[in-house]
Amino acid sequence: MKKILEEIERTDRIAIAGHERPDGDCVGSCMGLYRYLKNALPEASVDVYLEKPAPVFACIEGIEDAKTDSSDAKGYDICIIIDTAADRIGVAKEIFETAKKTINIDHHISNAKGCGMVNYIDPLSSSASELVYELMEERYVDVDIAKAIYMGIVHDTGVFQYSNTTPRTLTAAAKLLGYGFDFSRLIDETFYEKSYLQVQILGRALLESIRFMDGRCVVSMVNRKTMDFYQVGPKDLDGIVNQLRIIKGVECAIFLYETGPQEYKVSMRSNGKVNVASVAVYFGGGGHVRAAGCTMHGTYYDCINNLSGHIERQLNGEEE
Ligand code: 5GP
Ligand code: MN
Repeated sequence: MKKILEEIERTDRIAIAGHERPDGDCVGSCMGLYRYLKNALPEASVDVYLEKPAPVFACIEGIEDAKTDSSDAKGYDICIIIDTAADRIGVAKEIFETAKKTINIDHHISNAKGCGMVNYIDPLSSSASELVYELMEERYVDVDIAKAIYMGIVHDTGVFQYSNTTPRTLTAAAKLLGYGFDFSRLIDETFYEKSYLQVQILGRALLESIRFMDGRCVVSMVNRKTMDFYQVGPKDLDGIVNQLRIIKGVECAIFLYETGPQEYKVSMRSNGKVNVASVAVYFGGGGHVRAAGCTMHGTYYDCINNLSGHIERQLNGEEE
């Protein structure tokens, strides 16, 4: 695999962009690459676009440089989009469409072909961060880059627990740890720590969850009113679906939250038997075999009926 610097000229104007509602992997891979390109190409001009990164990511060096407004940003030589296809890059859409050269780095099976002129796509990579790290030359990596990349890997593997964790992942993580940063604190601060309100809404979502299909599926939903009551936003709901997934007997966990009138954001997790990426893709979303999502329209019951039809057919071996 060609290293990323082989695709970039010394004096290029470069934009890096992640996906909407950036998660740990997105922030880690984008910030890691941003700082790397600044180190490696001091004559280039490098910008990074990230939609309002959550406050927990304040510990990532340089996060304050991340731009959210692209209204007068045109004429980039290169636009690199990471951890997503071009359909979810929000403010960076125009940058991507007008850049002279586009590069896509992703690990989502639903984006297997890639959407750039140059594509680094590897669905076997645990995270976009692991993949980005493999495209770097060691001599330009420093401790801040290592910390950002390590955080991304930690988040997408659930602290090296999910089945996407491979020997390759741990080899990368071992090298990164060698740079010396407080990894224990990093994991606590960015991955485990929750505000009191986040824990309260988690508790409520678990309490109101419903099992169906003989306990092989579980679903929970949080509506707008409840989110307003607890004063929480979408980012505060991260992790609820993971708690539903670990219920004994559950093959597939579904979590929805209301994003507008008759509109829901759906998160799905599988314990292996259900390919949730294919369910999500069917409804216009995407993701991984065991973790995927989409946006759906209609009533809550319409959404559940439509999703569970696909899940049940898969569990019965009637659908891939
Ligand atoms: P989460 O449930 O944590 O929001 O997302 C799980 C996985 O599915 C992530 O890798 C995420 O990027 C992907 N995903 C979630 N929602 C969507 C969506 O609407 N479209 C696409 N393409 N991917 C999604
Ligand atoms: Mn990712």
